[in-house]
Amino acid sequence: MDEQLAENVAAVKQQIAEAAKRSGRDASDVCLVGVTKYVDVSTTRALVSAGCETLGENRPQVLWEKSNAMDDLDVRWHMIGHLQRNKVKRTVESADLIHSCDSLRLLKSIHEAGLQSGKLVDVLLEVNVSGESAKHGFSPDEMSSVIDAVQPLEGLKVKGLMCMAGLGSGQQDVRREFDLLRELLESNRASAPPNVELRELSMGMSRDFEVAIEAGATLVRVGSSLFRGLR
Ligand SMILES: *Cc1c(COP(=O)(O)O)cnc(C)c1O
Repeated sequence: MDEQLAENVAAVKQQIAEAAKRSGRDASDVCLVGVTKYVDVSTTRALVSAGCETLGENRPQVLWEKSNAMDDLDVRWHMIGHLQRNKVKRTVESADLIHSCDSLRLLKSIHEAGLQSGKLVDVLLEVNVSGESAKHGFSPDEMSSVIDAVQPLEGLKVKGLMCMAGLGSGQQDVRREFDLLRELLESNRASAPPNVELRELSMGMSRDFEVAIEAGATLVRVGSSLFRGLR
């Protein structure tokens, strides 16, 4: 298992480097977030040994459990899935970045949890770029008003934006959706308040992370490609 994982991590990092190069970017500007929702703690540990030190989970309880079980390791945990407000407090304690902030009520809860724990919580705003109704996230049209509304929430810091391409989107659509997220980041940056930084773009999964890097991704969330060939 360890050898296969090392091979997979190396292959994904190589693809990241090539996509960065193609688009005139530096590979070190793209962070691989290894999505470990498919595997248990021991395989997650093996992934860290294979060279992936930033990990993403989409279920809060699993993130708490795994980060607890692996607190001897120097890893960063990212919350990438839908977060309910009653799970905010513990998630703020365990996660270094919350990608999936999709409502103002959730942002307010995170802000309050941040103040309580004396920690400035780093977050991304999730944007529904495909318009698919099953997708979470703010609509592109409301981004500037959401960014204004975040200004008084001093318990958190918005580092950037996050999206998932539409499930039914073809290659062209995916590219357009990623371009849209980058344009939203750029067009809102100058007028953003001090606690809204707008530098990071979390976009791209196994099927589309190379396109995402070409469109400007700084965080790619890759799961299945890392676990290929494992039983
Ligand atoms: C599962 C998941 C991923 C990774 O998907 P793969 O196709 O397995 O690479 C990325 N982002 C989110 C939000 C996920 O839930």
